[in-house]
Amino acid sequence: MAWFKREIKGIITTTEEKKEAPDGIWNKCPECKKPLHYSEQVENQYVCHYCGYHLRIGSKEYFSILFDNNEFTELFPDLISGDPLHFEDTKKYTDRLKETMSKTGLKDAIRAGAGSIGGQPLVIACMDFNFIGGSMGSVVGEKIARSIDYCIANKVPFLMISKSGGARMMEAAFSLMQMAKTSAKLALLSQAKIPYISLLTDPTTGGVTASYAMLGDINIAEPGSLIGFAGPRVIKETIKKDLPKGFQTAEFVLEHGFLDFIVDRREMKERLSSFLKMMVN
Ligand SMILES: [Zn+2]
Repeated sequence: MAWFKREIKGIITTTEEKKEAPDGIWNKCPECKKPLHYSEQVENQYVCHYCGYHLRIGSKEYFSILFDNNEFTELFPDLISGDPLHFEDTKKYTDRLKETMSKTGLKDAIRAGAGSIGGQPLVIACMDFNFIGGSMGSVVGEKIARSIDYCIANKVPFLMISKSGGARMMEAAFSLMQMAKTSAKLALLSQAKIPYISLLTDPTTGGVTASYAMLGDINIAEPGSLIGFAGPRVIKETIKKDLPKGFQTAEFVLEHGFLDFIVDRREMKERLSSFLKMMVN
């Protein structure tokens, strides 16, 4: 005997009337498509516990995962971008900035914080992809430069978490200059014998890969991250050859000598703490 009997036949609900779980409570894993509850995501450091896929997260989440007790002082929180070129595409750059700020609650595509990890002091600068594709403009470059100055002045190691589509086109040459600026600052950090760890996450591309992201004393990536300079389509069209399987994944890049380690996010804090211990002593 059936436990339930459908009394009304042919119930059809139109798509608009279907009730969905509110956004943010449940998420579908982009890899294995299984539903992930928000509390499970937090518990697993935003890694799918079915397939190990590393969900894309921002500075808020990385800080909460890495800093001891999520305690840190945000550095240079008020830097915002100018519009030196009076740039306009589908909308004015100034309008795009304003809109993105109110949508994301961020001032630009990076936040920096000073705190400790496993009891050791550390400055982390972390990029936010949902702010204009994590694009590197003058604010990103300036915050990294100032964070490095802070590290040199206070003798604190520096961790950079990259997540970027590359240079910010709306700032053209001003954006490209950040590559040279951050690289020069990192050279000063190295002269001061202060450790620099670069963590590349999904995706790290363009001018970011071509500057600070690849200049770490140790370069680490999260598994499965897309890491490259130009996109695969552009490369394929340029060299007129098919690209090898897995091209531009962290695993491929590691095999070809550009990375030192791939570290699962769930072990990241522990591994970073032990790297720092080794490097500082
Ligand atoms: Zn999954």
